[in-house]
Amino acid sequence: MNRRPLIHGQSLSALSGWCGARGEPAFRAGQIWQWLYQRRAACASAMTNLPASLRAALDAEFEFQAVTLAGAEEAGARKLLLRLRDASCVETVLIPARDHLTVCVSSQVGCAFACAFCASGQAGFDRNLEAGEMVGQVLAAASAAGASPGNVVFMGMGEPLDNYDAVLAAIRILNDKDGLRIGARRITVSTCGLAPAIRRLADEGMQIELSVSLHAADDALRSRLMPVNRRFPLADLMDACAGYIRKTDRIITFEYTLIQGVNDGADQARALARLIGPLKCRVNLIPLSAVEEFEGQSSTEPRTRDFARLLDRERINVTVRQSKGAGVRAACGQLRKRHLSAGRPAAGV
Ligand code: SF4
Repeated sequence: MNRRPLIHGQSLSALSGWCGARGEPAFRAGQIWQWLYQRRAACASAMTNLPASLRAALDAEFEFQAVTLAGAEEAGARKLLLRLRDASCVETVLIPARDHLTVCVSSQVGCAFACAFCASGQAGFDRNLEAGEMVGQVLAAASAAGASPGNVVFMGMGEPLDNYDAVLAAIRILNDKDGLRIGARRITVSTCGLAPAIRRLADEGMQIELSVSLHAADDALRSRLMPVNRRFPLADLMDACAGYIRKTDRIITFEYTLIQGVNDGADQARALARLIGPLKCRVNLIPLSAVEEFEGQSSTEPRTRDFARLLDRERINVTVRQSKGAGVRAACGQLRKRHLSAGRPAAGV
């Protein structure tokens, strides 16, 4: 594996330090960032306002390409299969809307949390991604779409709060006014419910969106669907969420995938309303994406409507998501899985 650090994972202050160590003024770091993020330079030789010696040092000491396109698939949203420097692959999803592009980023290769309905979880954990690999996914998506992303959601493969430091470093680069300039409120971190990391995130003083995958309102069912619940049961998770809302004054979004006959009954809607009712929050009801290893079916439209109506009656702010993009989390990992089992790039390269 190429051991040179990724240029897109370098903070502005780290680059300033690197420039200073070469006797270059600190403003050179700002120039480098401008080339990387405003002008999307693919190598240092394009950075024509830098001294030739500095360009040569950048090319020699940093890697400019974190990811390469290994495959793509169109299924409502557009999925890219991106190959990393160690030849592992991750999925990045482009979700176009009328006036903006949302990019769904992976934070780990595989995932250790084994949610029953998730292809990534079934494949097991391989490694954490570096910050530069996550920023690289956003840049690759922007280049594939020919547009600058308006929103970034950490809802792809992996549990972002299990790779806390690298995810936060990537978010700072995405959000910085000299970086990719994506507003903090347009960046969403989605977690399966790592209560201690939610408490830590609350103290960061960031205005990012937090989304928590719930999928059940009682511990027995949630532990069955999401083994992480055995470590951080609902009482602990709700306490962490309440603290997050109190400290950040932000609304939390709870994701609830509706599974026919499993978690979509009237009693379960009422239990959900009781659980989250005291919190400043909203609920997204998501149709289940078919995953080979999980036998459950998505709820029918009438059951979904009834579930939403019951929540609404309890004054819960509820949205029913359509499948495009919204089921990305559960469906994530399937393109990579097909790629791994075929032992070759997926179709559509
Ligand atoms: S839903 Fe998220 S946390 Fe759960 S296994 Fe899939 S990627 Fe991991």
